Amino acid sequence: MEGWISVDINRLMTFDFTSLGAIGITGTTRATSGAASADEITAAPEQALKHFFGYDCFRPGQQQIVEAVLQNQDVLVIMPTGGGKSLCYQLPALLKPGLTIVISPLIALMQDQVQSLDDNGIGATFLNSTLSGAEVRRRNECILNRAIKLLYVAPERLLTEPFLHFLDEVAAEIGIATIAIDEAHCVSEWGHDFRPEYRQLKQLRQRYPTVPVIALTATATARVQQDIQQQLALRQPLIHIASFNRPNLHYEVRPKQKQAQRDLLRLIQQTAGSGIVYCLSRKKVEEITQKLQAAGVEALPYHAGLTDVVRQQNQTRFIRDDVRVMVATIAFGMGINKPDVRFVIHYDLPRNLEGYYQESGRAGRDGEPASCILFFSFGDIRTIEYLIAQKVDPNTGDPLLAEQQIARQQLRQVIDYAEGTECRRTIQLSYFGERFDGNCNRCDNCLRPRSRQDWTIEAQKFLSCVARCHERYGMTYIIDVLRGAKEKRILANRHDQLSTYGIGKDHTLEEWRTLGRSLLHQGLLEETTDGYAVLKLNALSWEVLRKQRSVWLAQPHQPVATRSAPSAARIKAEQLFDQLRKLRKELADEQGVPPYVVFADSSLRLMSQLQPQTLDDFGQISGVGNHKLARYGSRFVQEIQAFCQAQDQPADEFEGQS
Ligand code: ADP
Ligand code: ZN
Repeated sequence: MEGWISVDINRLMTFDFTSLGAIGITGTTRATSGAASADEITAAPEQALKHFFGYDCFRPGQQQIVEAVLQNQDVLVIMPTGGGKSLCYQLPALLKPGLTIVISPLIALMQDQVQSLDDNGIGATFLNSTLSGAEVRRRNECILNRAIKLLYVAPERLLTEPFLHFLDEVAAEIGIATIAIDEAHCVSEWGHDFRPEYRQLKQLRQRYPTVPVIALTATATARVQQDIQQQLALRQPLIHIASFNRPNLHYEVRPKQKQAQRDLLRLIQQTAGSGIVYCLSRKKVEEITQKLQAAGVEALPYHAGLTDVVRQQNQTRFIRDDVRVMVATIAFGMGINKPDVRFVIHYDLPRNLEGYYQESGRAGRDGEPASCILFFSFGDIRTIEYLIAQKVDPNTGDPLLAEQQIARQQLRQVIDYAEGTECRRTIQLSYFGERFDGNCNRCDNCLRPRSRQDWTIEAQKFLSCVARCHERYGMTYIIDVLRGAKEKRILANRHDQLSTYGIGKDHTLEEWRTLGRSLLHQGLLEETTDGYAVLKLNALSWEVLRKQRSVWLAQPHQPVATRSAPSAARIKAEQLFDQLRKLRKELADEQGVPPYVVFADSSLRLMSQLQPQTLDDFGQISGVGNHKLARYGSRFVQEIQAFCQAQDQPADEFEGQS
């Protein structure tokens, strides 16, 4: 059935979308193509986009992908989180005859997607191990009755005999439109989430050779991308690789100082909306959760030490906006689809930059502004170095040198990111082999460039102290000597007699540490990796000592200046936004779905700015499709009208005139 799909737009627009799921848009398949049908192809998807999903335009790449799927071409979609991958197969599913099968590895994600589609009046369902036999049969019937356009399945079910027989029946009676493989990196051993069941998906291709396959992932590495194509036997696919830049995210690194917990609390109190705080250990998760709760922040913990039931509960409460903050180890987040996470804070150092990108990338999937903040201290480097040194062969107890080396290199890249003075995006994207020219205007380094100071003289003092102590001591000892400490060990070694003893009293311990770390980091000094971290000089150290090389340090960022007072209009919009959020939560709780299923933050934001007071105007808001307009329009319009009337009350005007 190769050929052009043309969609009758008139039929599409007059379709009775109130009957749940009965979206029987009749695409006609033509054997030959004509100029007219090409026009229809480009016209239809845009109108369907507004009709079903309420969106005015496609995100970058979506249209091209949708068109390829409509033309039965295989497609490989590489898009970062929040790029809008789901729409790439959901929209074609509505425009093509037959059933679209979506393979998805996580039950929570499946349910989430089906709920969201359902709320847009689109017939979708899932089959997984949580359902009873009777329920499965009921759903199968719905599918054969053409009430369903999208079927979500877990890979392990897909390849069972009974299910394959059912699929044969579907193929014969109503046709399989497309096979969509979500989280396609699971097929690759080189990915971070290999699932052996994914390897067998190739069988589907053999069984239904004419059905096009669309594979989607947010994985950035070329190796995995290649693997996906091979393992799934994609046929001359359209490959869409989006930029990994996430323009709506604000990146920032803050020094993690003694009062870090207070800084964290203040930061969370000053930031609106849901957020995640990542910590390295369970203990830290518990500690921070308690601190936040004690200060009145609604927070819950998530880590591998909690029972499945508690973890599931906490996750659900976070997704439904019953609590605002999730404090978690990195065990949390995979398979979380919450699009309105407004901040992700790494309270401890991440182990590698890819991990940081993926974890922080859970913020702002909805495309609205969100912050990614990393708390950075040298103490954390020590902790991770310690963890790396623990990587030993469980049988022999020998250190796993290769693994340790990789881990150290990854750690160095994280430090590069944290200490870097360049645009944070430039550093992150270069890690994925993508060039970015800086000046993003949405990271601390671009918004508040750090001044650099000449620390050559201090560096010479430091290095010469290392030399005079015969390269036999670690950082703390050297700094103690520089600052003239009366330590027993120093006195016993008679290092108080050295010419460098006490020449560094004019700088704090913290400042010397910063210099020392920076020297290591810039390769101007070495440190042994035997667990003792003894400082050693190298050729570059000697260049500094011989005044052939200068040493520069970036000043840490000053705390963010407080923003200027918001305008009256903005305050009003904020108030309305809060009110609409409450209404959204009520409607969501009535249906037992997460609030974002009802409307995205971005839609609420537009409503509170534009304040539409008629259903017509309300329907123009991005994210309001025809189904949602009918379902929620009047409730929201009433709320907005009431708000505007209250604003017009005389008391308010009086205040306004003063
Ligand atoms: P991904 O799977 O790539 O992480 P999603 O498919 O979950 O991304 O989409 C992220 C968010 O963007 C969702 O809230 C989705 O509704 C929204 N979205 C997708 N496409 C568009 C569009 N064309 N216009 C506006 N919002 C969109
Ligand atoms: Zn920048």
